[in-house]
Amino acid sequence: MLDSEIPSTPSLVNGESSPPTKKSSPTTSRHRHITLTTYPGQIGVEPVALEWGALDAKSRGPIIVSRNPSMLKRRNAIGAHGGSYSIYNALAIAAGDLPADFLPDFRNTEPTFNFPCQPAWADATKIVSLDPYGHDIVHQFKERLDDGWDIRPTMAVTRANMKLAEIEKAVSEGKLSVDGSIVVNKTGDVRVTKVAVEPVWYLPGVASRFGVDEGTLRRALFEHTGGSYPELITRPDLKVFLPPIGGLTVYIFGPPERLSDENVRLALRIHDECNGSDVFQSDICTCRPYLAFGVQEAVREAQNGGSGVVIYFRKEGRALGEVVKYLVYNARKRGGDTADKYFLRTENVAGVRDMRFQALMPDILHWLGIKKIDRMLSMSNMKHDAIVEQGIKILERVPIPEGKLPRSPSRATQLTSISQIQK
Ligand SMILES: [Zn+2]
Repeated sequence: MLDSEIPSTPSLVNGESSPPTKKSSPTTSRHRHITLTTYPGQIGVEPVALEWGALDAKSRGPIIVSRNPSMLKRRNAIGAHGGSYSIYNALAIAAGDLPADFLPDFRNTEPTFNFPCQPAWADATKIVSLDPYGHDIVHQFKERLDDGWDIRPTMAVTRANMKLAEIEKAVSEGKLSVDGSIVVNKTGDVRVTKVAVEPVWYLPGVASRFGVDEGTLRRALFEHTGGSYPELITRPDLKVFLPPIGGLTVYIFGPPERLSDENVRLALRIHDECNGSDVFQSDICTCRPYLAFGVQEAVREAQNGGSGVVIYFRKEGRALGEVVKYLVYNARKRGGDTADKYFLRTENVAGVRDMRFQALMPDILHWLGIKKIDRMLSMSNMKHDAIVEQGIKILERVPIPEGKLPRSPSRATQLTSISQIQK
């Protein structure tokens, strides 16, 4: 027995001797050992070839994180599918609601738009935090899927109509017109192409973006996730990690094929999640007004023959999370809520003022084939600098108009000064 394997508890080992019940663990009952980790050179460990940045999907190879017995020693990536939802997936298996060896049926799930392949998809320095072929695995790796390999999309492309009260208002006030294809009716329904993206990290590339060595990154990810991913340490040969974090959604207004055309104007907003404001419209910040402004300007650009894009990142409360965010709110309200103390109070509670790390954000722009942004609907220096550092030009930065902020003059001034820094 390898030292990485420990015997299961007798009830699990002898699962076969008693009749299976719904609550018997489907993961462990069939297997004698729990494999805690694997090592390079271990008998049977033979990861499926994976060359990040290769010329096309097939030469790059499929990303395999499945721990099904047939694939465990052939996996070429660490972590699990689904980002933060990987935990719910595990829970569903533990609860007996989902067979551990479930294989999805991907019929008819293909993208509603085929994004043209971009040079950046084959550039290991330009895309390091998503799988550039993650939307196309059903097509690219069909034979493997037919063979029963557990390979899953990490991106999905669909179409929908969206409806925002602010857009309906802009239409009713004549500030946006009904064109029948982007704004489809008087009530402000907007046609949109959406791309959902789960994180897939190429660890050497991620380390390089942060200016640290790969070993330091791996060690920190291992230690500070409760030791959840031992292969970060034991398998330096595995370079890809699917982290348990939120992903992003791209909202594209107008024909998506225009996006990578440098001759077409582009208005773009990068928006980081703020559930309290974005959804529930709390008055503490300007996130929802800025999001609505971003959508409105993106729609306007698309109606004028350009492209409009809003990219929504699941980085709640500057990626500090809502608990920290509310603690900071309280500290600010009780300690004199002024703009100059905004960062200080956050640092007091969180240790840092911001954990969004925009360094990985431009990957999605590279994926979309964006080479320049005519109107960046944000005044955030962090976002601006990260994009420009990646070689994408920003021609104009557009702040939120004063009129879109809350009415109270003192509050508006304060929020403006914060939003100019942050948004
Ligand atoms: Zn907010």
